[in-house]
Amino acid sequence: MRRTFRFQLRPTVRQAAALTVMLDDHQNLYNAALQERRDAWRHPSKTTVRYVTQAGQLSEIRSYDPDQARWSYSSQQATLRRLDKAFAAFFRRVKAGETPGYPRFKGRNWFDTVDWPKDGDGCRWNSQPDNPARTFVRLQGVGHVRVNQHRPVRGTVKTVSVKREGRRWYVLLSCDGVPAEPLPATGVVVGIDLGIASLATTSDSRHYGNPRLLERAAGRLADAQRDLARKERRSKRRGRAVARVAGLHRKVARQRADLAHKTALGLVRDHDLIAVEALTITGMVRRVRARPDPDSPGVFLPNGQAAKSGLNRSIHDAGWGVFLGILYAKAESAGRTVIPVPAPNTSRTCAECNHCAAENRPTQAEFVCVACGHSAHADVNAAVNILRAGLARQDAQVA
Ligand SMILES: [Zn+2]
Repeated sequence: MRRTFRFQLRPTVRQAAALTVMLDDHQNLYNAALQERRDAWRHPSKTTVRYVTQAGQLSEIRSYDPDQARWSYSSQQATLRRLDKAFAAFFRRVKAGETPGYPRFKGRNWFDTVDWPKDGDGCRWNSQPDNPARTFVRLQGVGHVRVNQHRPVRGTVKTVSVKREGRRWYVLLSCDGVPAEPLPATGVVVGIDLGIASLATTSDSRHYGNPRLLERAAGRLADAQRDLARKERRSKRRGRAVARVAGLHRKVARQRADLAHKTALGLVRDHDLIAVEALTITGMVRRVRARPDPDSPGVFLPNGQAAKSGLNRSIHDAGWGVFLGILYAKAESAGRTVIPVPAPNTSRTCAECNHCAAENRPTQAEFVCVACGHSAHADVNAAVNILRAGLARQDAQVA
């Protein structure tokens, strides 16, 4: 199994400065290579500059630019490959008849990662294995940087990345051959409905993952963004407001990942089989979209807690995607089964009599069947439907 481990770095002051310069130089390389491709694209002949050409120029650049020559050849190649990927996506969309945006120059805040495609080539994980108390990663041009390694790394380290987040630095290790850690069977199967008040509600009426902390951070982020919108362009105050918004974005992302990890862990520990709704982006948005108020344009009628703001909604949308990714990974490692169920009407269908009607949902939280009178928590009713569909799917696969 492949897995990514992420640890915070503890660079010295001098190393932190070197990391910043390293990132800046890789950013310059990326933008220079982009400039070259843009110029070629604008040329009447529309010559395309390819990755092979640019990678070939790399040794030339390194021979006359001592600044660039300090860093790993491999990480520079990886940077050029990243640009190549952006172009491949661009050309693919052009070919498909879409009008994509041309790949853009990356400003300081948008270029935050340097990758080494192979451990041992320009970088070395656990570079001082004889030191029992501390872990280091050696990065060419920076030195042996201390790592805050809070858990063991399993499998074989394949690639190494360094990422800047605000003032913090992280190392990400992508490992192959990470052994599975199967959990004892519980004999319990469950369906889950993804929601707002709790991240997951099960078909046996249990709630997993309370997003209260996440919501508080999201509220502060919304305030900070309103504040930022009022600042004058290019002012000092605006610079500070931008930094505050960026910091809160990171906080929301951290809390979202944390909530997703805890929720997925609990669900995987307690159940052998988990049926989930196979989410599509449009489905996710439709489920929680607020209804426009017909009497006052631009105002939205409340729709449970979901409609607080567009921002809040987008945070939940992204949260479900993150959560499902983590749930699948943890389930695989623990030897559990997750069955995705394409189920567009699970929230409107009665789990008792199968009657499907929008009127079955008088409020966001309540389900009362207009045909048979069955009433339940709306999320539990949906989760029961999802479990049933999931088991049916599994039977079909076995047969
Ligand atoms: Zn019914």
